[in-house]
Amino acid sequence: MDINEILTHLGEDRSLYFNAVAPPVIQSSNFVFNTIEEMRAAFSDELTHHIYTRGNNPTVEILRKKIAALEHAEDALVVGSGAAAVAASVIANIKTGDHIICVQKPYSWTFKLITKLLPRFGVDYTFVDGRDVKNILNAIKPNTCLLYLESPNTLTFEIQDLAACVKLAKKHNLVTIIDNSHASPLYQQPIDFGIDIVIHSATKYLNGHSDVVAGVICSNSKMIKKIFESELMTLGMTISPHDANLILRGLRTLTLRVNQSYTTAQEIAGFLYKHPKVEKIYFPLHPSFEQYDLAKRQMSGCGGLITFQLKTAEKEGVLRFIQNIKRFLIAVSWGGYESLMMPYIGFHDIPGIPDSPVHWSVIRLYIGLESKHYLLDDLNTAFDEV
Ligand SMILES: *Cc1c(COP(=O)(O)O)cnc(C)c1O
Repeated sequence: MDINEILTHLGEDRSLYFNAVAPPVIQSSNFVFNTIEEMRAAFSDELTHHIYTRGNNPTVEILRKKIAALEHAEDALVVGSGAAAVAASVIANIKTGDHIICVQKPYSWTFKLITKLLPRFGVDYTFVDGRDVKNILNAIKPNTCLLYLESPNTLTFEIQDLAACVKLAKKHNLVTIIDNSHASPLYQQPIDFGIDIVIHSATKYLNGHSDVVAGVICSNSKMIKKIFESELMTLGMTISPHDANLILRGLRTLTLRVNQSYTTAQEIAGFLYKHPKVEKIYFPLHPSFEQYDLAKRQMSGCGGLITFQLKTAEKEGVLRFIQNIKRFLIAVSWGGYESLMMPYIGFHDIPGIPDSPVHWSVIRLYIGLESKHYLLDDLNTAFDEV
């Protein structure tokens, strides 16, 4: 099915809600059974019946269908955050004594899940440079059960060769999980490469309006049922129907938003690359990117994040740049309508906290939906002050 048909129509049966064009928010915690037989039928399969909103809810169900179709998956779950999507899909596939291989520099809370929480339950881990699949092969132990990928990551955009990873994982019986938040389902569909589970922070591009925190998990029906029945239900990773409805609204314009963010980002990456006050840029689909060929082969686009390093020997230079930026907002996160700037100098010199390993002259930009000239003017003014 065409992507825009999924976003506009899939999963929407208007006869169920008075032929209303826009689906209503079914803001109800529980659902009534007319007969005891109906109740028994519902409990035979909680994932497909309406019993209680911690499990299934009709508004969330429309969203699940769209997300699954976007990622070419049999089924999907929507949960209360991207971090919950990561945790649920990892925890569902490990037990005490197991070993996980994860690519280096994953999303910060994924790192904490693997290094802080899981070791309390006897799960061991190795981080590897996933740019070379040989590093993954060399890290495999007899008790390795899971390979966790993030391609690209959201700072330096390191990429894994998905086909090679899947081949290796199948040979060694590893479950594969990928965080696909950055490429978005527009530009990369990892299930087509044979990846088992695709997760997203729906907070980013899928919702796209900076007003919801949510996550999604996409996989085959059996895996989704397994994650639903254990992790989602027992840990209570539910999303509210109201938030699900906001994401449905956000999804209507997914292709417009992501394509615009990416198109403007390409222009800004080109501008930064040529700028004399820029030391280095990171942008997966810029020819200067170390893994450009693989990026081009594997993704049809790459989204609106650009990281660059300012050419200055003094922290003062970075501070002057930041002080003179007026249109990019200083904030974490990305994927909304508004352009953002995350200067890593903000993770240095915090009393009582070790400095970030990322250099203080590194700045990550997220390119939102403003016009190119509006953003370029802002950058030009600030560069003049470095
Ligand atoms: C934001 C983000 C997450 C976490 O998602 P939340 O919705 O904030 O819980 C996970 N992975 C990536 C790549 C992210 O950018």
